[in-house]
Amino acid sequence: MTTRATQSAHAGRALPAWRRAFRLAVRDPDELIDLLGLPEDAREPARRAARLFPLAVPREYVARMRPGDPADPLLRQVLPLDAETAPPAEGFVADPVGDLDAVEAPGLIRKYRGRALLVAAGTCAINCRYCFRRHFPYGGVPRRLEAWAPALERIAGDPSLREVILSGGDPLVLEDRVLGRLAERLAAIGHVRRLRVHSRLPVVLPSRVNPPLLEWLTGTRLTPIVVVHANHPAELAGECAEALGRLVDAGVPVLNQAVLLRGVNDDAETLAHLCERLADLRVIPYYLHQLDPVAGAAHFRVAERRGLEIVAELRRRLPGYAVPRFVREVPGAESKVDIH
Ligand code: SF4
Repeated sequence: MTTRATQSAHAGRALPAWRRAFRLAVRDPDELIDLLGLPEDAREPARRAARLFPLAVPREYVARMRPGDPADPLLRQVLPLDAETAPPAEGFVADPVGDLDAVEAPGLIRKYRGRALLVAAGTCAINCRYCFRRHFPYGGVPRRLEAWAPALERIAGDPSLREVILSGGDPLVLEDRVLGRLAERLAAIGHVRRLRVHSRLPVVLPSRVNPPLLEWLTGTRLTPIVVVHANHPAELAGECAEALGRLVDAGVPVLNQAVLLRGVNDDAETLAHLCERLADLRVIPYYLHQLDPVAGAAHFRVAERRGLEIVAELRRRLPGYAVPRFVREVPGAESKVDIH
């Protein structure tokens, strides 16, 4: 006889490994503090800040952190702190990059010539405390494929568009079946040539890079490009290297964008190590972003002058292709703005 318990056990086994890991992510600040043996005084601030922007971090990413060290650079990216609940610092706002002014249809953002961005999902596998979309109203984002019709019509109606970017949230939290159908619909629009995917999952949940993902990503006439997001070399440990290798081996160009973050990577030694490791893994270090001034993240800010010193040092140490462009996003600008 099949009981409800055995049915759900069967259903559980049918889930891909990455989806099981996604569901089992740490979402309770107390659990994260217990797992890492962090000081007791981290508990209350973490609970308070997580009420504003929830904690989410995959267990395999937690495994790359140093136990007992509140200054661990990976932990700093995910641990909610009291600094987030203080009144916003001057100039730090809910929508620092002007996303809301650039919405053309539900889920469709247009900023730069020739490209359109679909906010394909409203959640992520990891909630980065400095995220520029931490206040984004994801409630308006289409949840079913049919709801993408207005956005796809806008894309089809503008022959100047050459590239569509799947962003979020993180688009790779969606099922491959959904992503495959979305890719097919985009491929059916004759003037669209490239499909770019912005995702942190290959870094924080490497099992996401599985055969079904590679199948839809490379299975249309569109040229695929994947932009991942790693800020510190310790993030590239574990199975992450293999996952990035699977993308590259499938013929997908892979780029990395990092954010300059105080207490995480604001020194030349760390960033040089990150860029060299990326180059070894055949990933191009593409951008180093100056922090977007989003409310609740001012404690991550690094002075622009310090950023320039670090990038100058990277130029002295690394081959040109391994030095990322140091940029900031300016609302209303026609492209990312290089910082000189
Ligand atoms: S994965 Fe990207 S979109 Fe998601 S919280 Fe982190 S920075 Fe924001």
